[in-house]
Amino acid sequence: MKQLFGEAHNIDRIIIGKITFKNNVFGDKKDKVYVTDFDKIPNNYLAVITSNSIVKKGNDQLFVKNVTSTDDLNENDIVTIEADGTINVVYDINSQHNALFITEKCNSNCIMCPQPPVKQEDDKFDLNLRYISLLDKNTKMIGITGGEPTLIGEKLFDILSNIHNKIPKASISLLSNGIKFENFEYAKKFAQSVKQNIVIDIPLYSDIDTIHNSIVRTNTFYRTINGIYNLAKFNLKIGIRIVVHKMNYERLPELSEYIYSNFPFVFHVAFMQMEPMGYAKDNFEDLWVDPFDYNIELEKAVLNLHYRDINVSIYNSQLCILPDSIKKFAVQSISDWKNIYIDECEECTMKEKCPGFFASSKENYSRAITAIKDLQATSV
Ligand code: SF4
Repeated sequence: MKQLFGEAHNIDRIIIGKITFKNNVFGDKKDKVYVTDFDKIPNNYLAVITSNSIVKKGNDQLFVKNVTSTDDLNENDIVTIEADGTINVVYDINSQHNALFITEKCNSNCIMCPQPPVKQEDDKFDLNLRYISLLDKNTKMIGITGGEPTLIGEKLFDILSNIHNKIPKASISLLSNGIKFENFEYAKKFAQSVKQNIVIDIPLYSDIDTIHNSIVRTNTFYRTINGIYNLAKFNLKIGIRIVVHKMNYERLPELSEYIYSNFPFVFHVAFMQMEPMGYAKDNFEDLWVDPFDYNIELEKAVLNLHYRDINVSIYNSQLCILPDSIKKFAVQSISDWKNIYIDECEECTMKEKCPGFFASSKENYSRAITAIKDLQATSV
């Protein structure tokens, strides 16, 4: 997420509020984080952010001074502010990739996890309820992610209920490893708590149990499979996500066949390029395969599903490295704040349609990246 840094004063715990640039003297300020360039700090806001290094204050107003890049903030963004002066933009009003970060704990330990799980953390539940209460009513899509969101048990149902009360028309994308849903009663209560459009996206890395298990580094292949079936019993929309790397690319066609044969009801299947962060960065040598080198397997897998009317996408892939036959399946999926393009892209006629790169891929990308100069050359 986007982060800004400054010097916090009077802040001794993490707080969450909504950005405003308007000093509304008579309005309700208790949830507002007022952004100003002035050195005089107004009172009664949840917090004040200023780029100024010297401030005049008369009371206990919480504030962060000397903040860099306040221009990156927008009216109605939601931010958390930490005691050390770190400001995290947890909801960007202009983004379609906003998500609730439910927990950093996880019951998997994926070898390419970009955000490795923790064993201990402060409970995020109340903070997340406040986040939901601050959401813009026009929000069209909200993610629920972690860690593993189902680890908070039935509190996840309260999260869903609060989202429904605040933004009933929004769609929800829940990212889960599916393990918890092997418990039929949990899956049933979860289904009963769903009151709006939701897709539960579940990673499945191979059709072979031992390969999947060696990637998630837990013995959970069949637990995930059972979870998928339990969710399907309640007609919930299920997405399958496959991060592709050296350990699983060779069997992508077999995996697509497995998905079609066993889960013909799935709502969506996404093949994803790896994000080289966290464990993926630590294990890079063991995982990296130039995406150009698995085009044959990817093409077979994507078309195999597409020809059988399964909704299929390719996430995080650059258009120029894909065969023409599957370019149209590439979608913009990288969160805005970590999405970059490289120098080669400046010459490319397809830049606007291309998903580009993760910022963390800047040093490691396919040798086949080449600017597309001829619009007719591609079928996107
Ligand atoms: S050159 Fe850059 S913008 Fe063009 S298709 Fe390749 S990665 Fe995308």
